[in-house]
Amino acid sequence: MMSAGRYAPSPSGDLHLGNLRTALLSWLFAASSGRPLLLRFEDLDAGRTIPGSAERQFKDLRAIGITFSGEPLWQSQRQHHYGAAVGQLREAGLVYECFCTRREIQEAPRAPHAPPGAYPGTCRDLGDAERRQRRQQRPPALRLKAEAGEYRVADLLLGEVTGLVDDLVLVRNDGTAAYNLAVVVDDYLTGVDQVVRGDDLASSTPRQVYLRGLLYGQRAAGSVQYAHVPLVLNRQGQRLAKRDGAVTLGQLSELGRSPEHVRDELLASLGLPRGPLEQAVETFDPSRLPRQPWVVDPASQKRGPSESI
Ligand SMILES: [Zn+2]
Repeated sequence: MMSAGRYAPSPSGDLHLGNLRTALLSWLFAASSGRPLLLRFEDLDAGRTIPGSAERQFKDLRAIGITFSGEPLWQSQRQHHYGAAVGQLREAGLVYECFCTRREIQEAPRAPHAPPGAYPGTCRDLGDAERRQRRQQRPPALRLKAEAGEYRVADLLLGEVTGLVDDLVLVRNDGTAAYNLAVVVDDYLTGVDQVVRGDDLASSTPRQVYLRGLLYGQRAAGSVQYAHVPLVLNRQGQRLAKRDGAVTLGQLSELGRSPEHVRDELLASLGLPRGPLEQAVETFDPSRLPRQPWVVDPASQKRGPSESI
C-alpha cells in the first residue's frame, strides 16, 4: 500500500503566511512519519485560477525549504478519473440530477435542525418526465444520494470531528467535478493517507471520508490520518488575507525579509527551532503543536519580537 502526504493549494494567487504555514506543517508531518509529500494544484475552478500563480506558489514553497516528491498533479488534467468515479456511483444507484439554484436551496424548507446550506433533497425523487422538462431550462448538477446523516471522523489535533453528510454535489452543472469528489478520488489514487490542512476545512472531512468509503470500501475510508491545523488570523481575529498587508513572500522580501527569515518566524510560531526544516523535523511532535490560531499584524511597521513578520 502506498503512503503519502500532500499539499493542495488552489492556484488563485500568491500564497500568504497562512498558506505557507500549513504547507510547512504538511512537510513536517510527512517527513516525521517517513511519508513522501505530494503537490497537487486544485485548479478545477477555471474562473479562480490565475495563470502563472501555480509556478509562483511552487517557487515560494521551495524558497522556504519545502520539497515535494515527483511532479505536481493538476486536477484540471484528471477529469477522466472523476468521471470514472461518478460512473461507479451511478451504477450503484447513488447519483441523481439536481436542478436547484443556490437561492432555491437557501430558501427551501428544511428539517428544524439542519445546518444552513445543507441540501434539503428537493430533486431526489423527481420523476422522469419532470427531469426531462427541467433539463430544458437548466443543465443539472449531479448529487450523491447519501444515507449517512451525521458522520464522525478522528482528527489528530481536533479529536473527533462530527459533521452532517448531506446529498453533496459530485459534478457541478457546468460539468466540472466538485471539490469533495476530486479530493477524495485524487487522495485515494495517489496513495495519500495523511491529510494536513487548515481547520476551516475540518467540516468537509466527514463528507469526504463517507464518499471515500462508498467508492473504495470501509478499510480505505478508515486509513487516512487527518490533522486540521490552526489558522493564521489578523488582529481583528479574521482569517489572514491579502488585504491585511505584506503577507506573501514577495511582499515581505520588498520589506527586506528573506525567505529564511519568514521560514524561521513560521517555525517559531509553531514552537519549533529556527533553521532548516531538516533540523526542525527532529524535534517535531504533533502533540505539542499550539492549538490556538496564530495572530499576526502584517500591516504594522512597529513590531514586538513575537510578531516580527
Ligand atoms: Zn435540486
